[in-house]
Amino acid sequence: MNINPIITTSGKITQEIYHLDIGQYHIPRSCSVFLLITPKSIVIMDTGTSEDVYSILKFMKNQFPLRRVRYLIPSHHHFDHSGGMWKLWKIIKDYNPEVKILTIERTKKLLQDPNSHHERAKRTFGDFIGIMEPLLDENAYEIVEPSDLIKIPGLNQSQHLQLVSTPGHTLDHVCPTLFEKDKVKFTYLGEAAGGLLHSKQLVTLPSSMPPEFDFRVYIQSLEKLIEMKPQNSGYSHAGAVIGHEGVSEALIENKEYSFFFRDFVKSKFSERGETRFVVEQFIEQELKARSDVPMNELYTNYVVAVVYGQLIDLGLKGPK
Ligand SMILES: [Zn+2]
Repeated sequence: MNINPIITTSGKITQEIYHLDIGQYHIPRSCSVFLLITPKSIVIMDTGTSEDVYSILKFMKNQFPLRRVRYLIPSHHHFDHSGGMWKLWKIIKDYNPEVKILTIERTKKLLQDPNSHHERAKRTFGDFIGIMEPLLDENAYEIVEPSDLIKIPGLNQSQHLQLVSTPGHTLDHVCPTLFEKDKVKFTYLGEAAGGLLHSKQLVTLPSSMPPEFDFRVYIQSLEKLIEMKPQNSGYSHAGAVIGHEGVSEALIENKEYSFFFRDFVKSKFSERGETRFVVEQFIEQELKARSDVPMNELYTNYVVAVVYGQLIDLGLKGPK
């Protein structure tokens, strides 16, 4: 492939889809959200933490009116993706009282009762994680099934959205996907296909967060995504891949790497049964070659989380 298919900067990536690097924790390329923008409506996929909501508002200011925002769609309930859902909904409803969080029942329940997730995340990620207020207002939600075809005002007749069910990273994970006829024009992968922290090479990182990560289910979801043959894709961490060739390559790479990572964790842990040791080995031997985001304080927390999630799924550790 001659042209680099990876996009890390904010801006329009297809006719309808925009990528936004929200600069989570003030670090570029740590977390992305995606927006579907038509002349009649706006759909925001993930919000980042409660702090990141301001990056989204800043991006929209003078460019896209907030009254046009029709839906907020969470990929899953984790704080770095949906931590700001409650806040952004409350802000936008003053401009458009009809705005809804479009989601599945399981994610809604977790957004209404986020405390146990938030407390657990705090133990790993400290004060970075913002505030997750329970959003109890039933009026805030529109519940759909993953099989539902969602019409968005301003899309053409042959297009619709669907929240494709992709559990594994968490039980409630979905990929908001834009279909055009029977083709997938864009899928927001969230964390269903790992992380992409390299700007030039299609090499991925694991997203095996505790306590819900399930390796077998994760691989099944990944196979489903590969079969969908998306033309373009977006990653929570972070950026987009343009063109079906690059998208497939990255998905298949993540599938292979998921098996590698599982074996890596298993063998390092059998060498020395300490999470810390596995984490250090991974940072040293793998992470540096798979990311060109400058090393920062988040990396260790992230690696602790994915190693721990894998150890739990392997049955080598109990969930804390
Ligand atoms: Zn997550």
